[in-house]
Amino acid sequence: MQNHFDVVVIGGGPAGLSAALILGRSRRSVLVVDSGEPRNAPAAGAHNYLGREGVAPRELHRIGRQEVASYGVAVTDGRIVAASATPTDGPDAVAFSVTLDSGRRVTARRLVVASGAVDVLPDVPGLAEQWGRGVVHCPFCHGWEVRDQRIGVLVTSPTGPHHALMFRALSDRVTAFVAEPDLVDATARAGFAARGITVRDERVARVESDAGRLTGVRLGSGEVVALDALAASSTAEPRVEHLDGLGLAVEDFVVDGFRFGGTLPVDGTGQTSLRGVYAAGNVTTPMATVIASAAAGTQTGAAVHGDLVRADLAAALAAVPAGQPTR
Ligand SMILES: Cc1cc2nc3c(=O)[nH]c(=O)nc-3n(C[C@H](O)[C@H](O)[C@H](O)COP(=O)(O)OP(=O)(O)OC[C@H]3O[C@@H](n4cnc5c(N)ncnc54)[C@H](O)[C@@H]3O)c2cc1C
Repeated sequence: MQNHFDVVVIGGGPAGLSAALILGRSRRSVLVVDSGEPRNAPAAGAHNYLGREGVAPRELHRIGRQEVASYGVAVTDGRIVAASATPTDGPDAVAFSVTLDSGRRVTARRLVVASGAVDVLPDVPGLAEQWGRGVVHCPFCHGWEVRDQRIGVLVTSPTGPHHALMFRALSDRVTAFVAEPDLVDATARAGFAARGITVRDERVARVESDAGRLTGVRLGSGEVVALDALAASSTAEPRVEHLDGLGLAVEDFVVDGFRFGGTLPVDGTGQTSLRGVYAAGNVTTPMATVIASAAAGTQTGAAVHGDLVRADLAAALAAVPAGQPTR
């Protein structure tokens, strides 16, 4: 079994597989390690992915795996549980080592972190069971599917009123459930009134379902409001536990002063603060859609190849005997 690669890609979602595709086509030796838990797994389809509109998330992964394998990329099921970096004197400057949950240890010249994010959901009983189905978060991802229906919106942050207006563009039957009155100021309330959004200043105590289908929400008072869908925001935390050994710092992702999760910062090429470790997709920003994550993976893969080309050149020049003409 091969245990040294030019690049190890951590995560085989749209970002990781896209990075692997361009690297494989550039004749790099690549290993993709994927634990098979894409962020959008609960959803029936991935939308706004041109050419594969509505494809099931796991089907997109299956197709992507086949495509990268056709260029010699190795893909393995498993989880990276540890990573380390060792300085070297050579042109690569750093050598990387990763450990899989099987105990297998693999070394690489570069790492691409594409491990995505995990959604921490509002603590409302019954909500998690409906996440990605009856409970939606993104009007672009699922709005069309709930158009013209009775949509509730959980207002739990300062961006909640905007979230409600986004869903109002899809249905004229929208009710905002305001957890804290301060989250919706007079201007926002006037906007709700102008757009015909019903406001309930009551905390949602439970999401109600019947036979696996969302039927409404139960308020603290016990009243049940019948709904077809509920929109809620999550906090998206980057999956970086396996990178502890690299000392990479995660930053907060803040919108309107409210923390919506974290990001692993990268520069325009996908390079993290540690030379040789690149990242793409939701691990770098929770806002990246499937196609944006795939695009970031492609760009990052290209940058990694360019980086390796420069290192290969430096190694070749260093190997030329002293005094030998180089032209
Ligand atoms: C419910 C829901 C529905 C959505 N619907 C849409 C939609 O319709 N359209 C859209 O554009 N976007 C949608 N999104 C956003 C979409 O999920 C992301 O844009 C996309 O998944 C980001 O791709 P990624 O490759 O960065 O991460 P992911 O797709 O999450 O892939 C990361 C992969 O890395 C693996 N991994 C994690 N840690 C490790 C590790 N330590 N070792 C090995 N592998 C690891 C995971 O198992 C996973 O397979 C939705 C999100 C949610 C929550």
